[in-house]
Amino acid sequence: MTFLSLFFIFSRKFEYSIKNGYNLSKDTFTNSRSKRGLCMNNDTKIKEVMGKAIAEAKKTMNDNVGGPFGAAIIDKEGKIVSVSSNSVLRDHDPTAHAEINAIRAAGEKLGTHDLSGCTLVTTAYPCPMCLGAIIWSNINHVIYGCRPKDAEAIGFRDDFIYRFIKDDHPDKKILAIDEAFREQCLILFKEYQEKEKTLY
Ligand SMILES: [Zn+2]
Repeated sequence: MTFLSLFFIFSRKFEYSIKNGYNLSKDTFTNSRSKRGLCMNNDTKIKEVMGKAIAEAKKTMNDNVGGPFGAAIIDKEGKIVSVSSNSVLRDHDPTAHAEINAIRAAGEKLGTHDLSGCTLVTTAYPCPMCLGAIIWSNINHVIYGCRPKDAEAIGFRDDFIYRFIKDDHPDKKILAIDEAFREQCLILFKEYQEKEKTLY
């Protein structure tokens, strides 16, 4: 393999790996799938699950329940645990994104907050809130359809929020974050630690 072809592969891999805090390499999808060897290792299965997420999103989008976003969670065996869509408008809940709704439904169905080993299939790359929720849930594989730039192109702010976090919240008019009464709050933390409660 020549240096040039190696360079070509390298640049292709990082073509979409932007400074915005997410990695949209075209190869991420295929590589993570084959490496993880989870339930989602064939295109037919992924197509089926993504199809369900798209259908759910289409249904609720047309009923003005929320935006054009759907998500499904699959367990280790490849069984669909939950299929949800965005319900921000119906629920008057800005956190009711498809991924959050799918995580809540899966947790309720499986009776646990720990979704280790599950895969989340979503019609769009998760926003920072959902990405955080996915990590909190211990889901360790995400398969997405559209990119943050695609969501931005139709008016959603995913990409803006990624930039905002990466730039250390530069605009106080958008969000002011101030520290106050840390000592008092640390007492609460200490109490929790002393009780040796569950960590998650
Ligand atoms: Zn989200």
